[in-house]
Amino acid sequence: MSVNSFPHDSFKDALAANVAYIKDFKYSELTGTAQQGLAIVTCMDSRINPLSVVGMKSGDAKILRNAGARVTDDVLRTLVLATYLLGVERILIMPHTNCRMAQVDDVEIHREIDTKYGIDTSEIEFKTVPDQRLALIEDVQKIRSYSLIKSGVVVGGAIYDVATGKITPVDC
Ligand SMILES: [Zn+2]
Repeated sequence: MSVNSFPHDSFKDALAANVAYIKDFKYSELTGTAQQGLAIVTCMDSRINPLSVVGMKSGDAKILRNAGARVTDDVLRTLVLATYLLGVERILIMPHTNCRMAQVDDVEIHREIDTKYGIDTSEIEFKTVPDQRLALIEDVQKIRSYSLIKSGVVVGGAIYDVATGKITPVDC
């Protein structure tokens, strides 16, 4: 297998920042167990800092992210591991306001990428969200009813407001 050299130029800011980060690194003693027993499933949106949103820090919680904060097969796989082996006892599904995934449908995204780049992405299901509240309820219930999630784990849904930082719990 041939490999390419690491693209240093593209990551120069991140590498420089890491040099500073490790100077007073204070998490050496942590294990992989979530100390606050929490997992958060949220969107990849760059406005969300999940640990800060709930007043936590490194070591406290498992963070799972994807476009739209959807409960996919891979999220379920990860939550099985997290609940049985990594101390997770409560799961918060946290989509957000102003999410692009809740503003367009799959057809529009396929069309936009095709128009801009000439690439046909139709083999991918983007899992856009026509009704954010309904999708949240379905995703929360999907975890609750999944037979392989550890019993007794509590699952809740809340929507994060990108304009205020507030999370609003939703009955699911
Ligand atoms: Zn989003």
